[in-house]
Amino acid sequence: MNINFECTSCGRCCHDLKVPLTVSEAIDWLSDGNDVQVFCEAVPWPADASADDLQAAHKKRRSFSSVSGSLSIRVIVIFVATFSGACPNLQADMRCGIYARRPLVCRIYPAEINPFVELLQANKSCPPEAWGEDKLPLVENGKIVDVATMALIRQSCEADAQEVHIKENLCAALQIDSAALANEGFVIYSPGRAVLLETLRKAAEDLNPHPTRLTWRYISNQQSTIDILRSIGAVSSLVAENPDRKFEYLGCGVLKPNCT
Ligand code: SF4
Ligand code: SF4
Repeated sequence: MNINFECTSCGRCCHDLKVPLTVSEAIDWLSDGNDVQVFCEAVPWPADASADDLQAAHKKRRSFSSVSGSLSIRVIVIFVATFSGACPNLQADMRCGIYARRPLVCRIYPAEINPFVELLQANKSCPPEAWGEDKLPLVENGKIVDVATMALIRQSCEADAQEVHIKENLCAALQIDSAALANEGFVIYSPGRAVLLETLRKAAEDLNPHPTRLTWRYISNQQSTIDILRSIGAVSSLVAENPDRKFEYLGCGVLKPNCT
């Protein structure tokens, strides 16, 4: 598959978004007075499991190991800037107000930040006139050919891997201990701007992981998922079984950031 593309600067991609952020981007976003949420998902991962295919290795690099009951798991934590309508950084002339330091995911759009997710024109906000054989090559034979975009995707993957211990420490500090089953949804924590900024700054200064005895709880909106997870030793419960919850649950069928 080949894709040719040139941005028309229409600004459509800067509306109604969930923007995945690196740690430094999340600190900047919070410091600018905007909100960031913490999205959590977890994959059952037997202690002796290998990661011998590229996609499994990618998942392993961007996650930390923990347990849910007697089940070994890997937890993926993503910082996400969520907004309805225009991005708080979008100016009236449709230019980005933080262009020089805009997040990586904004820089590579419409490409996918996850190298294992296929770029599909139908999933993108760009107008028809942005695509066509007369535009610059972006994808050839299914692979991104734009060198700058590829470098940014690699940079994002490296940040993901390097920041795992910061995310682990942050979860311990904020008692974030529930996650959705990967690919089924996300458990979303919104600790508040000031608390998250202060905790994230501290976690980012700490160079060492501090694994806790935290037992993670799986959350799902599907009884069949709960039954399967319990049968393999995980602690799990339906969303409705957590009336005092400090999180929201988002099923993937509703919305999904393009980072997973
Ligand atoms: S940060 Fe800039 S490029 Fe990214 S969504 Fe906001 S306005 Fe658009
Ligand atoms: S929606 Fe596409 S064409 Fe419009 S500004 Fe964003 S990247 Fe450019």
